[in-house]
Amino acid sequence: MGGCEMAEASGERYDSNNVFARILRGEIPSDRVYEDGECVAFRDIEPAAPTHILLIPRRAGPVSTVGLADEDAGWLGRLIVRAARIAAEQGLAERGYRLVLNTGRDAGQTVWHLHLHILGGVELGPFA
Ligand code: AMP
Repeated sequence: MGGCEMAEASGERYDSNNVFARILRGEIPSDRVYEDGECVAFRDIEPAAPTHILLIPRRAGPVSTVGLADEDAGWLGRLIVRAARIAAEQGLAERGYRLVLNTGRDAGQTVWHLHLHILGGVELGPFA
């Protein structure tokens, strides 16, 4: 299943004008902490912790984890590995951190371009 079909499966089509797509194109400024050919990491504009970084794939879709297929394991696995590396570079590895991947409205997802939150620098509370 390709990116566009995944977007349809989630009920949200990938919109190439979503805020993260615009950040990827450089149309909206971002405080980037890491980038490579596959993904970009930048600081969240409304941080929920002393360190709050968003890590996004450059690919246009999927919008969320809904409809992910086995073929997505490679890039998504690498995204998590890179998140761990960024967290370590930010000094979070010793005390720990949280990786969050919100899916859909009940989880509070507001941007329809799959993204990982890297949260740390404080003792994080329990989940809701
Ligand atoms: P989510 O609620 O999981 O969809 O997370 C979306 C996140 O994107 C929120 O934490 C927002 O604060 C963040 N965000 C929205 N617009 C921007 C932006 N222009 N630059 C950085 N972070 C943003």
